[in-house]
Amino acid sequence: MAKVLEPNATIIGKIDLSEELSIFKVALDEELPEGDWFVPGQYMVIGVNNLVEPDLAGVQRPMSIASEPAERGHVEFYIRRVARPESKNPLTHSLFRLSEGDRVFLRPKPKGHFTIPGTVGLEDDRCRIYVSAGTGLAPFVSIVRDDLRHGRSVTKTCIIHGVSRSGDLGYREELEQLSQEHGLVYIPTVSRPTECPDWSGRTGRAEDCFKPDGLELLESSLSLSAGTFGPDQAVVLVCGLQGTIGQSILRLAGRGFVPAEKKIRKALDIPETRPASLFFEQYDSDPVIDLEDQQVVARLRADLGLE
Ligand SMILES: Cc1cc2nc3c(=O)[nH]c(=O)nc-3n(C[C@H](O)[C@H](O)[C@H](O)COP(=O)(O)OP(=O)(O)OC[C@H]3O[C@@H](n4cnc5c(N)ncnc54)[C@H](O)[C@@H]3O)c2cc1C
Repeated sequence: MAKVLEPNATIIGKIDLSEELSIFKVALDEELPEGDWFVPGQYMVIGVNNLVEPDLAGVQRPMSIASEPAERGHVEFYIRRVARPESKNPLTHSLFRLSEGDRVFLRPKPKGHFTIPGTVGLEDDRCRIYVSAGTGLAPFVSIVRDDLRHGRSVTKTCIIHGVSRSGDLGYREELEQLSQEHGLVYIPTVSRPTECPDWSGRTGRAEDCFKPDGLELLESSLSLSAGTFGPDQAVVLVCGLQGTIGQSILRLAGRGFVPAEKKIRKALDIPETRPASLFFEQYDSDPVIDLEDQQVVARLRADLGLE
C-alpha cells in the first residue's frame, strides 16, 4: 500500500506554458551538498500526496532536472500533466493542483546515467545532437546551461525540440538567445501547425529531422558536408517517449548510429567493438523497438552494415 509522504520541499515558482505544461521550481528544506551536487542530465524523484482522494496516499515519479548544479536556490522541472495516465493515482494530476508555496516530497539524491560523462564522455569532441519530444528537453537544458557556466563551447551542439503547438516550446527564449549569442544550433519543430497559425518555423516531429530533408538541414546547420552526418562526426542523445526514440533509432541506423542500449545491442548482435553513438532516456515503458519483429531486426542489422 502506498504511504503518505512527508514533504521536505516547497514549490517556490511555477511557470505555466499551458494548463497541462509547466516549469516547477522546487526548493529543498535541507541544504544542498557543496559544489556540483548532481551531473546535468540526471533526474530526481518527486512525490506528492493525493489530497482529493487521501486514501490513495502518496505517489512518486522520476523527473529530469532542468536546472544546472550551480543553481542552488531551487531545482527546476519541466512537467507535462499526462492526459491519459496509466495509474490510479497519477502524480501529474495531483501535482498540477498545487501552486507556489505548496509542499512536495523530493528524494534528495539525484540519479541516472543519461549525462555526458555517463554516455559519450566530456572529452568527446564530436557534434552533439540532443533530440527531445515535449518535456524530454529538460536534461538538455541542464546540460547546455552547465556547459555555458563552465565556458564550454556549444557551437557543435544541436537541440531539436519537437512539440505539438508552438506555445509548448518551453525554454524557447533562452535557447534562441543561446543560438544567437553562443552559436547553439536550435531546431524547434511543431507537429500541429494548424493549431498555432502564427508559427512560421519548421513543422513535423522531432524525429522527422532524421528524414532525408531534415538530415540535409542538420548537415548545413552543423557545417557538415552533405551525406557526412554519421557517428564519425556526431553523437545523438534522445529523450522522451517511445515513438521519438524508436523512430530516431530506425532512421539513423542507415547513417551508422549504433544504439547504446544493451537489450537492443544483444537482439541485433552488435559486436562489442562497435561503439555506441545513440543514447536515450525513455519516459514511458513501451518497448522503443519491437525486437520480436524479425523484419525490423533484419532491417536494422542491414542498415548498420551487420549482414
Ligand atoms: C528518468 C525519467 C525522467 C523523467 N522526467 C520527466 C520530466 O522531466 N518531465 C515529465 O513530464 N515527465 C518525466 N518523466 C515521466 C514521469 O516520471 C511520469 O511517468 C509522468 O509524469 C507520468 O506520471 P503519472 O503518475 O502522472 O502518470 P502514470 O499513471 O504513471 O502514466 C504513465 C504514462 O504517462 C505517459 N507519459 C509519461 N511521461 C510523459 C510525458 N512527459 N509526456 C507525455 N506523456 C507522458 C506515458 O504514456 C506513460 O506510460 C520521466 C520519467 C523517467 C523514467
